[in-house]
This record gives sequence, structure tokens and C-alpha cells, in this order.
Amino acid sequence: DHNSPVADEFRCYSEIIPRYRIEAQIGEGAFSKVFRALDTVRNEEIAIKIIDKSSMTIQQINGILKEIAIMSKLDHENIVKLLAYKNSSNSRYCYLFLELVQGGEIFNQIIKYTYFSEDLSRHVIVQVVRSIKYLHEQVGVVHRDIKPENLLFVPIPVVPTPVHEQRRRQSDDANKLDEGKFKVNVGAGGIGTVKLADFGLSKVLWDRNTNTPCGTVGYTAPEIVKDEYYSKSVDVWAIGCVLYTLLCGFPPFYDTDPRNLAEKVSKGEYCFLSPWWDEISKEAKDLVSNLLTLDPSKRYTLDEILQHPWILQNSQITEPAFDAPPPTTHNSQLYQHFNDTSESLQTPRA
Ligand code: ATP
Repeated sequence: DHNSPVADEFRCYSEIIPRYRIEAQIGEGAFSKVFRALDTVRNEEIAIKIIDKSSMTIQQINGILKEIAIMSKLDHENIVKLLAYKNSSNSRYCYLFLELVQGGEIFNQIIKYTYFSEDLSRHVIVQVVRSIKYLHEQVGVVHRDIKPENLLFVPIPVVPTPVHEQRRRQSDDANKLDEGKFKVNVGAGGIGTVKLADFGLSKVLWDRNTNTPCGTVGYTAPEIVKDEYYSKSVDVWAIGCVLYTLLCGFPPFYDTDPRNLAEKVSKGEYCFLSPWWDEISKEAKDLVSNLLTLDPSKRYTLDEILQHPWILQNSQITEPAFDAPPPTTHNSQLYQHFNDTSESLQTPRA
């Protein structure tokens, strides 16, 4: 049947098949499917996100256009690259050709390991901060949807080799957090470069081309300046939620009832729950507290995060990537459940 949805879907794939060989489905969103595929021209594996626009509202379609417009401006090692995009000939589908990030979601690693060591958490969060700093300061965009599901990672081998040991020693000597590449495999839980994905909810604060409002700030209305200020700080709050979750394996705000959850978030009601937080350093707790600060004007800025003693610690990733899981699978169950209701890692919007 040439008119069936299956036939239509087949046609949609066949249109890109001459160049791209689809290998497997690796993800799914509300209106999209993500595939791993071989680009036979560049002889390189990529990810293809195929968005079905047929049941989307105009607003949702505009959202996709915005996502594409924003993503095509981005060029940073901690952000998933948009390589190209096109519409199907019948306009029903939109294809996003993306850099393939082989490891998948950090979220799944938390489920797998229960929680991360402080060194591994630092390794992840520093990269997230760098990507957000680039977005806020170079591009003028806020992400607004930072969560472990939207953080992908490049896997690195977990078995140490002499080369890795040597490189680790060199980076110890260099003693530079900025190096990035020194995070070789030892104890890093297989997590290399972390890349931010999913710009579906992101928002432009200012435009480099027209230079508004940042370039003409003297004439910009206070509500716009304030909006920009508050917008940026929602990403910092979300970084706090992610850091909390990495360290203990469950999110800071959680309730099965969305209304109760909203209440807890709006009051900033969270705690360092015993026994999970007992062994975590006071420096890590101090940083989390400064990110999950209710008053956005008192909340840390990105530069303050990067200057915090916990971040500046000499990170060698020599301790195990994860400790033995606690006696129950409580954490991952809680987290998995939390993911179903998927609210508390989203930043509260004023
Ligand atoms: P949602 O409806 O959940 O917001 P979405 O339609 O916006 O999803 P994405 O979040 O972009 O879709 O992608 C869905 C999933 O596909 C991701 O969570 C990830 O697991 C996988 N994925 C997306 N892009 C890539 C990529 N470039 N490399 C590897 N995996 C990817």
C-alpha cells in the first residue's frame, strides 16, 4: 500500500539512503526518531534525527526551525554539531544530520553506575559549564533544558594501557584542568568528552548580527536586561540539579505529584540526604548549595563555578569511577521513576 504510513516512512528514509546507510535506531523523541547511519560520501558515522512534522502544531514546527537556526550557529567541542539539515520532498519530514556521539546519554550511565565519584562528576560538570559559558557569552543563547538525558558522551576505553598511564602522568605534571584531553581512561567510567544536545527549548537572548540587546545595552529596557539575567541563571540552577544527581544518583527535587514537586522547587526545598551524601565532601556540597540558591541574584555565575575550590581541585580521576552500589537499587529506581515524570531537573521558569 503506497499510501500507508509505513510506505510513507519508507519513502522518507529511501530519499536519504543513496548517501546515508541507516544502521540502527538510537533514540526517540515525541515527534522524532534518531538513527545511527554511515555517510558514504565522507565515510563517517553520523546521527540522523528524522522529525515527522505531520502531527505537529505550527508552534511546534516553529520550535524546530528555531532549534535548527540556533544549532547551526554553534561550534564548540562540548556541543553536538549540526552538520546539515533538509526537508523531505513532500515536506513532511525534516532531517537533521548530526555529529554522532557514540556513548549515548549520561543519564544511562547514572542508572548503570548508581552514582559517580566526585572526580568523574567534576569531569562531567566542568564540560557542561564550558558549553553553557560558550552559549551564554559567545552566542547569546540559553539552553533551558539541561538534564542528564540531554548530555551525551564520547566513550573512552576503560582498561588502562601504558599509553594512557603515560599520558595521565604527563597531564599530572602539567597539572592543568583546562587540558580536557588528560581525562584518560583511568577510573573515568568510560566517559570522555561530554556534549550538550537538544536545543528544542533554547532561547536567543541577543543576536550577534543585529547586536541587540547586548550591544546597545544603554537603550535596552530594564525588563529585557533582567530577562536576560534571569534566563542565564536558570541554566545555572539546572547545572546544580545535574551535579547533585551525578554525585548521589537521584535528583534534588522529587515528588510523584507534579504539584508537590513544583512546590518543593519553588521553595528550593532539598537536602543532602543521609546516608547517600554522608561521604561526599563539604566542598562539593558547598558548590551544589551555591547553584541551588533560590535567589537568582545570589546564585553562582558560571565563572564563580569555575573558580570554586571543588572545581579547582587537582582532578586526576584515579579513584574508581563509581563506588559499590548501595545495598538496594533504590537510587536508580527512584531516578528512573523520576524520569517518567521528568520535571525536577527542568529549571523553574519565572
Ligand atoms: P525529546 O522529545 O525527549 O526532547 P527530541 O525529539 O528533542 O527528544 P533528542 O533529545 O534530540 O530528541 O534525541 C533523542 C535521543 O536520541 C537522545 O536523548 C539521545 O539518546 C539520542 N541522540 C540524539 N542525538 C544524538 C547524537 N547526535 N548522537 C547520539 N545519540 C543521539
